[in-house]
Amino acid sequence: MKVIDHINHSDQTLISFEILPPLKGKGIHSLYQHLDPLMEFKPAFINVTYHRSEHVFKKKADGTFEKVVVRKRPGTESICAAIMNKYNVDTVPHLICGGFSVNETEDALINLNYLGIDNVLVLRGDAAKNETSFEPEPGGHEYALDLLNQVKNLNAGVYLEGDLKNSIQTKFCIGVAGYPEKHFESPNMDSDLRHLKAKVDAGADYIVTQMFFDNSKYFAFVNACREIGITVPIIPGLKPVYTRKQMTILPKTFHIDLPADLSNEMAICKNDVDVETVGTEWLLQQSKELKKAGVPVLHYYTLGRPQIVADVVKEL
Ligand code: FAD
Repeated sequence: MKVIDHINHSDQTLISFEILPPLKGKGIHSLYQHLDPLMEFKPAFINVTYHRSEHVFKKKADGTFEKVVVRKRPGTESICAAIMNKYNVDTVPHLICGGFSVNETEDALINLNYLGIDNVLVLRGDAAKNETSFEPEPGGHEYALDLLNQVKNLNAGVYLEGDLKNSIQTKFCIGVAGYPEKHFESPNMDSDLRHLKAKVDAGADYIVTQMFFDNSKYFAFVNACREIGITVPIIPGLKPVYTRKQMTILPKTFHIDLPADLSNEMAICKNDVDVETVGTEWLLQQSKELKKAGVPVLHYYTLGRPQIVADVVKEL
């Protein structure tokens, strides 16, 4: 079932989770262990992130280094199918522009369609580790909007080989990313919102936000979206904090702020066990306020700490 149908058919706030594919070599059972404690909350859908290949330097026996391409977390599409099969829950694979030619993207979409997956979250992806800024693959897409247009074409039965006869129309429900604290490359919020609106005008069914820790930023973002005519559901993305290191890692990696009240509390914690207690309570209060405000879905980035998310959702 499509994410947008879940939202439209529900009169209450839904729950959804986001997970990473396991590291190569770990096997799918590590993922099931992660998901098992979460499934009692009957998530409407589960997102699976996409991780592009990266260049790394590997030391050879003679002491020299060689540059090799590795993909540390492969398998997004097949993990989605495995989760659907095991838990009977809808899944949302993330699809990115980076590293894909348009032909490879079309093949990926055809595979998803064969697997019975009705949803995709379309993203540009970040720059590869060896690039200073995002470089599209030769013959690939530059922006999420271009990828979205390709999915829309397939939904209309238009394939890259324009002369295919009796080609089926796919039925993907399309989500896109939004940034309550602005995408870091955008010169200002107005520009970022304009590009977000272009994705919605081109047919995005809903928006999922980057994580935020201050609900007032989400509410302001939703208001700003509504003011420029974005009417689709805007799903808040939420993440627990559980280590002191996250005070610097999260702003650096995701270009978001931690509110002073939260970072001050984290700073005086004696250890990470205490940080986890602070982070769990913060996430609970955030979730309660958002639920009270009637958000369509509470979308949890569960990465590494499913138990915190389970504890919070249990309390809601
Ligand atoms: P876009 O919408 O293409 O926007 C990128 C930037 O370009 C923005 O600054 C935008 O304002 C600007 N822009 C857009 N169109 C134009 C235009 N026509 N002209 C000039 N500027 C323009 N990354 C992964 O690699 N894998 C994942 O699984 C993944 N999951 C994510 C899930 C969520 C919910 C979020 C919020 C992010 C996720 N990301 C993921 C990260 C994402 O790929 C990066 O944030 C990326 O830098 C931007 O992606 P986007 O889809 O928002 O890009």
